[in-house]
Amino acid sequence: MKFKEYDVIIVGTGVSGLYAALNLDSSMQILMLSKRELTLCNSALAQGGVAAVMDTSNDNYELHIKDTLIAGGYKNNIDNVRILVEQGPKDVKNLLNYGVDFDRKQDGSIDLTLEGGHCRHRIAHHKDSTGFEIVTSLIEGVKKLSNVTILENTHLLGLTKRGDDFLFDVLHEGKHSYYTTKNTILATGGIGRVYDYTTNSAIATGDGIQFAYNMGADIQHLSYVQFHPTAFADHENRECFLVSEAVRGEGAYLLNCNKERFMHKYEPERKELAPRDVVSKDMMKEQKETGSDKFYLDISYKDPEFIKNRFPMIYNKVLEKGYDMTKEPIPIYPCQHYLMGGIGVNGHGATNVKGLYAAGECAHTGVHGINRLASNSLLEALVFSRLIAEDINKNNTHRELGTLEADYPSPDGKPLPKGIRTEIRHIMQRSYFVVPDYVEAAKDIKRVTELKNLLDNGGFEVTPDYIEAKSLTTVAYIILSEVVAEGKEKGII
Ligand SMILES: Cc1cc2nc3c(=O)[nH]c(=O)nc-3n(C[C@H](O)[C@H](O)[C@H](O)COP(=O)(O)OP(=O)(O)OC[C@H]3O[C@@H](n4cnc5c(N)ncnc54)[C@H](O)[C@@H]3O)c2cc1C
Repeated sequence: MKFKEYDVIIVGTGVSGLYAALNLDSSMQILMLSKRELTLCNSALAQGGVAAVMDTSNDNYELHIKDTLIAGGYKNNIDNVRILVEQGPKDVKNLLNYGVDFDRKQDGSIDLTLEGGHCRHRIAHHKDSTGFEIVTSLIEGVKKLSNVTILENTHLLGLTKRGDDFLFDVLHEGKHSYYTTKNTILATGGIGRVYDYTTNSAIATGDGIQFAYNMGADIQHLSYVQFHPTAFADHENRECFLVSEAVRGEGAYLLNCNKERFMHKYEPERKELAPRDVVSKDMMKEQKETGSDKFYLDISYKDPEFIKNRFPMIYNKVLEKGYDMTKEPIPIYPCQHYLMGGIGVNGHGATNVKGLYAAGECAHTGVHGINRLASNSLLEALVFSRLIAEDINKNNTHRELGTLEADYPSPDGKPLPKGIRTEIRHIMQRSYFVVPDYVEAAKDIKRVTELKNLLDNGGFEVTPDYIEAKSLTTVAYIILSEVVAEGKEKGII
């Protein structure tokens, strides 16, 4: 088999993949893979914005660090939090150079907003569709680079390492193609699709984590999963529409089934502005109190024009579902949203596997601790993907690229049995939603292990469906292993 060589191969074209490509030395040949269209990723769904200390007259690094640590339960990697917070403003300013159009105040300065867990207005945003604005601006920037080849609708199906060389098997336009490099950046995003209900896009199946795990990379704290308290309560769709944290930031109230405020009972000071994990857990407590899973978010007491102008996307989406948020409360419920754990990396995004880097949601830099502070994720994607690029630039010695000859296993095999992905999703939804059910997890891990063994050794044809089933099963296996270990430690099981 012939493998075409690149200096760097980046798997993923969300904010972390794109920004890494933009910061790599232009003398290097770079290949980027995107399993679906370029804008189908979690980055493009981000609504609220990017958190950074941009207004030094009202804010400072220590306050942003403190908020990040409080939200993260002080389980954060403090060195990396410092890197995140202190380097963040540089990258947010740099986005302006790529044409990102952040909302402005009348005096021309960036209009910074407030979100849950932040003690200052520090979220730069483009209305309520910040991620799409950033992704489309960065795509435009990358497309101008003649050293970058982007393969869209191209699924990574195999990634292994021989010596210093990574070997890639990808499916592009129905055909397998083979590539090699000594520098791989995994920027494959989250794992939301391991749940029945998630805010994540269809690509979030944990493929990068599965490949890294199978290459011997250290996977850290995969059970640090975030459940956002305010997804639109619409269990007709697997992808739940998020009602941004910024709506609470602008003063929305959380109401129980009796349309009464309740957060003051659990969080007397922060009320609705407590961090996400706290609010989601408080909603579960309130559900026990009232016996009802009906919850609402209400901002209808504010000026309708302000709501429509500040949240045009959310307003229109919710209106499509039959609710006018300028006039009435809208139904919401917690839902899987984000992964804090991931592929373990150091302060410049390197894993324990030589030449393998991980950036963005698939990576674990430790900046989020056990719960990510709102709008710190895009910031992490930006800061650490740039640091990865700088590390590769520093170590790069320019050499001629060629073709590598190597054997590679055939993708042929038996068809994948139906229903594995659905079964995994049901298992995760019942054994770990907001708070882990240790007893259920201890039962479910047996079935997940069985499915993992079947997928690893069953001789199935290597297709996108097979890889996604294998990734979801591997991710579920690692998460539930951690949950079961925790349950044993606590003496519950
Ligand atoms: C609804 C929603 C709202 C959010 N709002 C905010 C917010 O306001 N602020 C904030 O900071 N964060 C927010 N987040 C989180 C944030 O958007 C993400 O964590 C972040 O953008 C992840 O970026 P990424 O580059 O790591 O991954 P993604 O943007 O998800 O990109 C992953 C890429 O990997 C590719 N890929 C995956 N597997 C394969 C494969 N097998 N082969 C080829 N390519 C593959 C995909 O095609 C995609 O291009 C939000 C998330 C969601 C879902």
